[in-house]
Amino acid sequence: MKKLFNLFFIISSFFQLNTVQASQPIPVQVQVQTEVLQGSVILSLQNFEKESLAIEFYPGALSTVKFAPARLVLTPGEKAQLKLQHVEFTEGRQVLHMESSVMSSEQGGSQNGPFVHETLWVSRGVPKKISFEEGFLRQRVRLQNAEKSEAPKIDLGGFIDAHPISALTFKANSIPANMRIQPFRFASPLEYARLKPRQLPRPSEPQNGKPPGLTPPNFTPEEVEITEPSPEVNASFTSPSATSPSALPFDLNTNSTLTLHGTMSLQTAPGTYKAAWGWVVKTWQWQTSMWRFLGWTYVGGDGSWSIQFASNLVLPGVPVRVEYLTKNRFISLQDPSGNPYAWGDDWTLTGTNTDIGSRYADLTVNGNLPGVDQLYVGATHVWVKFYNTGMNALRDEPIQVTFANALSTGQCVYKDSNGNPYAWSCSYWSDGKIYIIPAHANEGVVQHEIGHSINSYYWNGNMPSDAGGTHTLKGCFTNGLALTEGFADFLAYWVQLDRNTSAPTITAFNMNLESLPSNVCNGQTNEMRVAATFWDLYDYWNDGSGTSADTLLYTDQATSVAIYLNNNKSKMADYLAVTQAGQNAYWQGELTKLFKLNTIIP
Ligand SMILES: [Zn+2]
Repeated sequence: MKKLFNLFFIISSFFQLNTVQASQPIPVQVQVQTEVLQGSVILSLQNFEKESLAIEFYPGALSTVKFAPARLVLTPGEKAQLKLQHVEFTEGRQVLHMESSVMSSEQGGSQNGPFVHETLWVSRGVPKKISFEEGFLRQRVRLQNAEKSEAPKIDLGGFIDAHPISALTFKANSIPANMRIQPFRFASPLEYARLKPRQLPRPSEPQNGKPPGLTPPNFTPEEVEITEPSPEVNASFTSPSATSPSALPFDLNTNSTLTLHGTMSLQTAPGTYKAAWGWVVKTWQWQTSMWRFLGWTYVGGDGSWSIQFASNLVLPGVPVRVEYLTKNRFISLQDPSGNPYAWGDDWTLTGTNTDIGSRYADLTVNGNLPGVDQLYVGATHVWVKFYNTGMNALRDEPIQVTFANALSTGQCVYKDSNGNPYAWSCSYWSDGKIYIIPAHANEGVVQHEIGHSINSYYWNGNMPSDAGGTHTLKGCFTNGLALTEGFADFLAYWVQLDRNTSAPTITAFNMNLESLPSNVCNGQTNEMRVAATFWDLYDYWNDGSGTSADTLLYTDQATSVAIYLNNNKSKMADYLAVTQAGQNAYWQGELTKLFKLNTIIP
């Protein structure tokens, strides 16, 4: 009997471990349902907040459907309908993405309100709702005999990947002649993967900040490297048949080295191409009865890549398949079946050196997979900033980011005020896996979720018992929830903003950490108060006065992140003692003032 009981206990705690998750904050509690009709959209709304709200809806960044902004006021509990005006549906696949901003009747600035993201199919003017998967993932073409593939072991940088050839691929396209590719000035992913597991620098010392209004200082060169625009490179396109006549066909009888090269970019808007830094490129060839692996590389910061292989590995006259994958040592951006997204096409080798030209993945709003550029680049900025400040962002395996999450995955599902389930974005404490819904395809969201995945890795999954679950930016919840969520919120600000920013605001959260709206709850059980405390330890400018003041910053940019990751605590007030340890009376006093300014301590 005793044994059975133990077994049951183990199973139930295992189950719990796997289901505990940290999620994106939910916006103001207003339920929205949409009815899409020919030429119009009707919104059915209900206010679940205890105060009157003025809401303005407007098209979101991912919307292909145009409509005029619309406003209404809802009293507590009120239900109402709102008909959108000037709705323009174009034929074919469309996305209705609405965002909103909300002003409450009480004091406080505007904040993010409810949103809608729906994929539609419009035929003869009549829109019909379809799933994101039906709208976008079904553009992928199935590769013949993909199940007959080698599973080559490739070292992504301390992690061995053994994926076979991709069965489903989007078509890569050619960049028009003379278009420019925007580069990223990043080192190789293999370089960023060289830090030791959980490597953190020693905490730096505090220094005095400056009153606002003075000329901001130049901080470390690493900061400049991330944000500074760098010289652009020209895309060259050479069609596979247009190899110069002087190129000699390779001789299979001599064991020469063949080179296949090109560039890969992300099309983020019409005419805008960004280097696909850190994507994996693999080459394959169908040989008699199997897809044989020829070689791989990472795409560089200028979009270029080059793969070499011995000529005797290749069958003459048979096309070589090139695939580009949204995966590297840090993250794997993948479909709900767990496969990294792939773009690909086939090429005929034209000599010892074959240039397949400049290719791109169409990530525009009505392209192959809108939002993936935001997620990939947003994640990359986390990795690079960690590296540049001497910290390792890597888990033992690449963080699996599933996009787009939906109810059908059964992951990150919550219930709304009416008890109906909905899919959301979250990170699981146990394995760091992340799921992101279509409306959350932006840099701030993925950076917040990655913050959770890095956090749970550094803390070996020992998260505060009251962490996880549904939460809002402005509300008070529990100590552990506010601590872990506030850190994840701060991380997105830390990645995106220089520390001499005077009004730190990012679009995903739409709140200025230096001047939180007055309806944001006070104390260490509110996540924005936690995030603002970390910000004050990081930023250059002083604020507050008397016994509630931020007068300092850490000399080193890493410290405000590193002290958190290196000290597993259960509430924000515990970090006052962590920061005061080893400091003299002056700095201990200034740190007390900083925690007091942010209402962490009374
Ligand atoms: Zn979260």
